[in-house]
Amino acid sequence: MARYDVVIIGGAIVGSSIAYYLREEGFSGSIALVERDPQFTHSATTLSCASIRQQFSIPENIRLSQFTLALFRRLEQEFGADADIGFREGGYLILAGENGLPILEQNHRVQMAEGADIVLEDAAALERRFSWLSTEGITAGAFGRTGEGWFDAHAMLMLFRKALRAKNIDFIGQAVTGIERQGGRVTAVMLDNCDRLEAGTVVNAAGPSAGKVAAMAGLALPVEPRKRSVFVFEAMEKFADMPLLVDPSGIYVRPEGSVYITGGAEPEERDGPADPADFDPDWPLFEEAIWPVLATRIPAFEAIKPTRAWAGHYDYNTLDQNAVIGPHPEVGNFVFANGFSGHGLQQAPAVGKAIAELIVHGGYRTIDCSAFGYARVAEGRPFRELNVI
Ligand SMILES: Cc1cc2nc3c(=O)[nH]c(=O)nc-3n(C[C@H](O)[C@H](O)[C@H](O)COP(=O)(O)OP(=O)(O)OC[C@H]3O[C@@H](n4cnc5c(N)ncnc54)[C@H](O)[C@@H]3O)c2cc1C
Repeated sequence: MARYDVVIIGGAIVGSSIAYYLREEGFSGSIALVERDPQFTHSATTLSCASIRQQFSIPENIRLSQFTLALFRRLEQEFGADADIGFREGGYLILAGENGLPILEQNHRVQMAEGADIVLEDAAALERRFSWLSTEGITAGAFGRTGEGWFDAHAMLMLFRKALRAKNIDFIGQAVTGIERQGGRVTAVMLDNCDRLEAGTVVNAAGPSAGKVAAMAGLALPVEPRKRSVFVFEAMEKFADMPLLVDPSGIYVRPEGSVYITGGAEPEERDGPADPADFDPDWPLFEEAIWPVLATRIPAFEAIKPTRAWAGHYDYNTLDQNAVIGPHPEVGNFVFANGFSGHGLQQAPAVGKAIAELIVHGGYRTIDCSAFGYARVAEGRPFRELNVI
């Protein structure tokens, strides 16, 4: 049996970031980072679309992404001269028809108040800006001129993991199978090799499995895996100025090197908890729903060649599609960092910093994450993010 001051369950981007910032905040206690899939074959982190934006509907989410953006801009100071995650600041272009316009305008006001560099343009201005775009059915669009884009998720994860090697962290390559609790405290986690780790604090960083992990401690967390397919295609035409475009249908597309990736618009009626072992891409979705929209929105995409696809699981918060951050109100040494619902990669550095501050200093110092606290889950009071892509 071993004893750790902090046991973090899940060692992908959120767990690694928490361990990293704990040390950066001066935490000198023992830390175990427990990960059942050390190659991260099925983690949301490595299966994501690795994009970052300012275009959220609530200021709290914008602030989390802005923290990460600032980190991206000084990556070499933080992680060393060879740190590179291939960040391309290509922007997001979120389009709206007449019905979606009031929400787009409202979101834009929130983003401007947070200092984001987003322009709201009507259809004619968008066609002038992007020669390849068809604005059929479009009233306006919001375009991030700076501060938004995409990067290499695996490279970002490896930066954190590499930095952890010098920070006296115990990496444990096992699955957590149980959590012991005595009243208002969790006391230990059990591993599938039958080891038992006593824990001062347990942090849930288990991504799409976070609901299951919380249940091991007898706690309810409305986070479940939801399957999301990503399709890769080739096109004859290359558009150097193409941002990550989000159509009003929810379908998104962006360049990825010399090819493009696309996805979105999973039909609501079929969108339930995923089988944790199901990573088969939903090809009919591409053929029936996505391709026709791409061909309408970008006429040059009438002739494209789909080449491959993958599927990952969103860490989907069914209450309000927003993160749950911070301790359980009654089991204060069980801490959540979960439920990011498709935007957790870009929030991970900020959340790591916030959780570290909470553990080390007893409160948030850099970004106030109280609004993401568990209390709303207990009360069934949604804190909704409208821009879930
Ligand atoms: C298709 C897709 C596209 C996405 N696109 C974006 C995007 O463009 N931008 C963005 O910001 N976000 C995006 N996301 C969301 C983002 O990937 C996640 O929110 C983020 O990676 C969550 O990080 P995590 O470390 O919490 O979860 P994960 O990366 O899933 O890591 C959790 C880890 O916990 C481990 N684990 C789980 N249970 C246990 C256990 N019992 N014992 C031990 N280990 C355990 C798992 O093996 C896993 O490695 C996307 C997600 C998907 C699926």
